[in-house]
Amino acid sequence: MSGIATTCAYCGVGCGIVATPGINRSVAIAGDDAHPANHGRLCIKGTTLGDTVGLQGRMTHPMIGNRTAGWDEATRFVARTFADTIAEHGPDSVAFYVSGQLLTEDYYAANKLMKGFIGSGNIDTNSRLCMASAVAAHNRAFGEDYVPVGYEDLETADLILLVGSNTAWCHPVVWQRIEAARRDHSTKVVVIDPRRTETAQEADLHVAVAPDGDIPLFRALLADMKRRGEVDEAFMAQHCVTPDGFWDGLVGAPGEALPTNFEALADMVAAHPRMITVFSMGSNQSVRGTDKGNAIINLHLATGRIGKPGAGPFSITGQPNAMGGREVGGLASTLACHLGFSDEERAAVADFWAAPNLCTAPGLKAVDMFRAVDDGRIKAIWIMATNPAVSMPDAGFVRGALEKCPFVVVSDCMADTDTTRLAHVRLPAMGWGEKDGTVTNSERVISRQRGFLPPAGEARADWRIIADVAAAMGYGDAFDWSGPAAVFREYAAMTALAQRRGLKLDLTDHARLSDVEYDALQPFRWGEGKLLADGFCFPDRKARLIDVAPLVAKPADPAFPLRLNTGRYRDQWHTMTRTGLSARLSRHRSEPLVEVHPDDAVRYGITNGGLAQIDTPRGNTVLRASVTDAQVPGTIFAPMHWTDLFASGGRANRLTSPDVDPVSGQPGFKDCGAAIAPVAPE
Ligand code: SF4
Repeated sequence: MSGIATTCAYCGVGCGIVATPGINRSVAIAGDDAHPANHGRLCIKGTTLGDTVGLQGRMTHPMIGNRTAGWDEATRFVARTFADTIAEHGPDSVAFYVSGQLLTEDYYAANKLMKGFIGSGNIDTNSRLCMASAVAAHNRAFGEDYVPVGYEDLETADLILLVGSNTAWCHPVVWQRIEAARRDHSTKVVVIDPRRTETAQEADLHVAVAPDGDIPLFRALLADMKRRGEVDEAFMAQHCVTPDGFWDGLVGAPGEALPTNFEALADMVAAHPRMITVFSMGSNQSVRGTDKGNAIINLHLATGRIGKPGAGPFSITGQPNAMGGREVGGLASTLACHLGFSDEERAAVADFWAAPNLCTAPGLKAVDMFRAVDDGRIKAIWIMATNPAVSMPDAGFVRGALEKCPFVVVSDCMADTDTTRLAHVRLPAMGWGEKDGTVTNSERVISRQRGFLPPAGEARADWRIIADVAAAMGYGDAFDWSGPAAVFREYAAMTALAQRRGLKLDLTDHARLSDVEYDALQPFRWGEGKLLADGFCFPDRKARLIDVAPLVAKPADPAFPLRLNTGRYRDQWHTMTRTGLSARLSRHRSEPLVEVHPDDAVRYGITNGGLAQIDTPRGNTVLRASVTDAQVPGTIFAPMHWTDLFASGGRANRLTSPDVDPVSGQPGFKDCGAAIAPVAPE
């Protein structure tokens, strides 16, 4: 078999890969020169994908309890238990918790079953943890979850602001493209981040804001642009609606301290109209995440820096198919195809699916979903391709909720995760290199993931597992797809509903693809260039500037005087169920470290390389300390990858707060009160 064009399994950059299978499941990996996301580039995670496709650790057979079951028995058991639970307690007594690792076809099937046929909105995704605030900000500003920028804009921008984004580590190929722009186009780069990250060290300017300090920063930047005459009044008049009193509310807020190099930042912003603002987890994972997104978008709208080459706000996603999940309704807060819950939209969806029982309202978002598991409102949950027992905030609480849930189903490609250990039924799903379907990356390029390996044991495609359960529940006609191409055609046809509503999501010209054409599908980007040509997605086709309230400083709890920030390492992915298989990836960081500023190290008796215990109101963990002035005094940082299955500890999400952004429901992983103390060697 020669090289197969497919897409990387990891981050939302969505790099194209050419995979060449060899003997015994070996595979040679190369970047795909023809893919628009990466033009042949890869980072080390993509390069080492071949290390992770063996059979080690794979789930190979359905399991009911501790015994192997056949697919028919397991499917019937899941379907009957869900049906009995719904019959006794109603449709909102069940839930699906899904993942940005799913392919679009899988996501579509899961959403259709839960929202259209079970009749509950209770399907939410781990993408709630990574970019729900950006979705909410887009909806508030544009009227649709629309991303107005693509990667090639990075190469024509004169200035790139990176907000809460350690791009060099977390989106490495985007960073490679930025580096190329700096070399070829003299593009300036500013990093706005409390930490002096590896990205910040390379930037032209590092603006070290306090935790959540990007809110006062962007409010002040906008006020400063107004003062300097940089607001584009003609653009505003043609394309924007501005709330009464908007400009007066921007200035004079008490307690909004600005970094000492604010003027240098403002000078750079004023001098470079071709400006992109890239924002990711550091902005989104906040109890003010939606406001942060809108503060950024406000700056671009008011200065007319949007809808033009090299200009716009750009939320980059964490997972390979976070964007595809958004498109097909994987978030509890939307129906499929970016549609909402108005009577008209619900009627259109119910009609399209011939759905007897379409849900009437949004379902529970991730944090609330697991609270409902804990208090017994949800009695049966199906978790697909994700590991919430360690990836949710306050993960100890989530683990406890799952331990007492009457029925937990987990479908996953890996056999032994913190969450599969809590399941009553385990269903083996195909992994990367086996499954077939589509993903959508951060810039809305849809690409194929293609299978080139036989499935591990009896593993099946997620969409098929879902369709078989749907059929066993009596909904077979609506889920009778011949393959992923048929699911994709149905989804593409459904985007006609978005068109009727005036949204930009339009795949209707793909609704009649043959199976052969689907198999040969080349990467393409939807909605490109439509932002200003069609206008924004409100009835008046104008965007909305949003009043973003000043930051109100939280009083510190003397028992937890430090601010704990969490994030990723360069060479690991999420809870390491797959990257942990690659020895090459563990060379970069072999254990989790808590990073502490030297002043705090002195104050709390922490030594570089010594062990330290971190406490928060939810629990504690012990980590080796790295004393570094890359931290701002008063803050500490820990990576989120290591779980209870690792002897070295870590368990950062046993510590993080479940407090969420009230608009998006996204948790504030980046900031919670913590204490630190040295641990004496035994
Ligand atoms: Fe994969 Fe992301 Fe690396 Fe690209 S940048 S190779 S998508 S992990």
